[in-house]
Amino acid sequence: MTATPAWPPQSAPRLHVETQLGEGVVVSIDGNPAHYLIAVMRVKPDDIVLLFDGRSGEWAARARDIRKRDLVLECVAQTKPPETVPDFWLCCAPIKKGRIDLIAEKACELGVAKLQPVLTRRAVVDKLNLDRLHAHLVEAAEQCGRTALPELAAMVKLDALLRDWPQARPLFFADETGGAPLTEAFANYPGPAAFLIGPEGGFDPAERAAIRAHPQAVPVSLGPRILRAETAAIAATAAWMTINGDWK
Ligand code: SAH
Repeated sequence: MTATPAWPPQSAPRLHVETQLGEGVVVSIDGNPAHYLIAVMRVKPDDIVLLFDGRSGEWAARARDIRKRDLVLECVAQTKPPETVPDFWLCCAPIKKGRIDLIAEKACELGVAKLQPVLTRRAVVDKLNLDRLHAHLVEAAEQCGRTALPELAAMVKLDALLRDWPQARPLFFADETGGAPLTEAFANYPGPAAFLIGPEGGFDPAERAAIRAHPQAVPVSLGPRILRAETAAIAATAAWMTINGDWK
């Protein structure tokens, strides 16, 4: 008895597109995504490509009109509903290029809803290439099966973040000088949340005091060792996904 082949094919390539998807919607693909599909994935007419646009879920689309540098994809069926990820924001200071890219990629895979860069006094980097970070988010979402990218906010200064912080959202503050264990802190706040991680040089005393003075701030410990910022960001997010997120 031959098993019916899985549909959509497990090997179907996935692409993030800006076009609003839906039954019969036709998407023209060119540039690097077209090169990836045509030259790397060797997509042939009628092959399935999975598309997601961040709001319509995931759609299986049939390849058509394949030329050297572009092709057309026609949506034939919705394969995943619009995703819901835990309402968890990751706020982190800009760190060296490769490492902030790692945080963006892992935040996407781990299911973060929003990535909020925060400029602190000891940050070694004071500007971010949001286009590059967006590209990492797209690639990670295509790989991990998300149907929407995390929201990528423009960088804000720490004092502005604290001043404008939303009333109903706890700001778990990874304080390397000590704080509550995550299991205890997270147990008290199962709802929307955010995690704030400092830069390679940590928070300076005035920043730490300002954060601790904020009514929504919840200082937490990430254990007895000093973690690199990217390790702290990934570990804290994984802990949230385990305790209050969607890793059920
Ligand atoms: N250079 C600083 C540490 C900075 S680590 C020092 O040596 O003290 C970068 C960030 O990761 C910190 O600002 C903090 O937000 C987080 N972090 C690292 N280890 C942590 C721990 N054990 N507990 C809580 N937060 C931690």
